[in-house]
Amino acid sequence: MENIFVFFIGTIFGSFINATAYRVVRKIGFIFERSCCPVCHHQLSFLDMIPIVSYVLKQGRCTYCKNKITKRYLITELLGGINAVACWNSAESTIQQFLFFYIFNLLLFMSLVDIEIKEIKDSYQLILLIVTIIIVSIEKWSINNYIGMIIISLPLLVIALITKSIGGADIKLFFTLGLLVKTKGIIIIYLLTIGFASIFAFYRLVKENNKKEEIALVPFIYLAFLIYKYFEKHLLVCLTIWLT
Ligand SMILES: [Zn+2]
Repeated sequence: MENIFVFFIGTIFGSFINATAYRVVRKIGFIFERSCCPVCHHQLSFLDMIPIVSYVLKQGRCTYCKNKITKRYLITELLGGINAVACWNSAESTIQQFLFFYIFNLLLFMSLVDIEIKEIKDSYQLILLIVTIIIVSIEKWSINNYIGMIIISLPLLVIALITKSIGGADIKLFFTLGLLVKTKGIIIIYLLTIGFASIFAFYRLVKENNKKEEIALVPFIYLAFLIYKYFEKHLLVCLTIWLT
C-alpha cells in the first residue's frame, strides 16, 4: 500500500520532468505558462493532468482535438513512479532517499533531453556531481569511490579521444555514477548499458534499417542505474561469482 502511494507521488514528478524537458528543449518558458496540448494548444484542465490515469481514461488522446498523445507522457510518468519506489525501498536514511530520488529524476530529465537534441549541458552534470558528493560524504568515502570514478570513464575517455565515437556527456556520467556506486557497481551499470544499447541498436537496424543515426546513450545509462538500484545485492553477488 505504501509503495502504491510512493509510486503515485513519483508519477507526479515524472509528469513534471516530462513537461520541463519538453519546454527546455524547445526553449519555452515554464514558470508562468499553463500546460497545453502540443497539437491544438488547448489549455489542460486538472482532470487532463492526473498522471497515468488521464492517459489511460482518455485512451492516449487529447480531450479537445482527439489527436493521439505520444507514449512519452505515459512512459515518463511510469518511470517517475518507478524512480520513487526504487529510492523508497533502497536508500538507508530519509535524506539519502530524497537525494537518490533527485538523482534519478535528473537522469530521467537528461535522458529526455538527450533523446531529442543529444546535447547535455555541463550545468546538469555539475548538479549531479554535487548531489553525488553529498551522498558519498554521508555514507563515508572509500578507495572504491575513487576507483569507481575512473575504472570505466578513463578507458572511455581514451577511446573517445582516439575514435571520437563516444559522447563527452556519457563519459562524465560514468565518472559521477562510478563515484556514487563504486567499482563493482559501475562495472555492472556499464555492462547493462552496453547490453540495452546493443539490443536497441539491433532492433532499430532490423525494424527501421537505420544504421547512421547516433544512439543517445544517456537513457540506457539511466535505465541501467535504475535496474542496478532495484537488484543491487543480487547483481553484486552475480558479478563477484563471474569474476572469480
Ligand atoms: Zn489537443
